[in-house]
Amino acid sequence: MEKKNRVGIMGGTFNPIHVGHVITGECAYEQFALDKVLFMPSKTPPHKSTLGIASTTDRTNMVRLAIEENPHFTLSTIELEREGITYTVDTLLELHRTHSNCEYFFIIGADSLLGFARWRNPGEILKLATILVVSRYGLSDNRLLEQINKLKAVYGGHFEIVKMPTIDISSSEIRERHKKGLSIRYYVDHKVRQYMDEHSLYLEE
Ligand code: ATP
Ligand code: MG
Repeated sequence: MEKKNRVGIMGGTFNPIHVGHVITGECAYEQFALDKVLFMPSKTPPHKSTLGIASTTDRTNMVRLAIEENPHFTLSTIELEREGITYTVDTLLELHRTHSNCEYFFIIGADSLLGFARWRNPGEILKLATILVVSRYGLSDNRLLEQINKLKAVYGGHFEIVKMPTIDISSSEIRERHKKGLSIRYYVDHKVRQYMDEHSLYLEE
């Protein structure tokens, strides 16, 4: 049987994309011998307030700038092209339909893991992808495993923990710092910082 391509998916609002996202993608790539990682900006998600969300075009442009030098990172706009609310389960179904030679690894931070049971159709998602979990906010591996075991008991599926130093920065913190005029140098790629300046992003609510 033909070997399947191992494809990571890093989904997010990327408002803006920061070093936590790209380091996570790179660690997952390395540890799980992935062939590539798709960076997939989401539409303005229904559960996030639209206040303070940069346009889809700006968020996508910043992702492109942040990943362009990495040959195994790719931008995927698949969720932006679909009409209506986009659910991860539909994205995975579409990817499997269009790329039958791929195996998918959906990469999520610990915060997303805690909310996973509220995603649309978790059981189906778990049939379509392995979930790679990254610690955040100081959550211990034990705490992550506890949550993984709870989910597994209900839905089955495959989960793995990505080993990496916790990088406790978030897009919210970056927006907040930028608004206050504090430095975000090194929190984001310098091209992203330049883009934010040129487009006057995140200066007010
Ligand atoms: P916001 O503060 O606006 O929610 P964020 O930093 O959480 O932004 P998102 O675009 O919401 O970024 O996150 C996309 C995915 O990346 C989520 O699965 C999230 O858990 C994960 N992620 C974001 N930042 C980190 C980080 N520093 N370390 C590990 N995972 C992260
Ligand atoms: Mg978030």
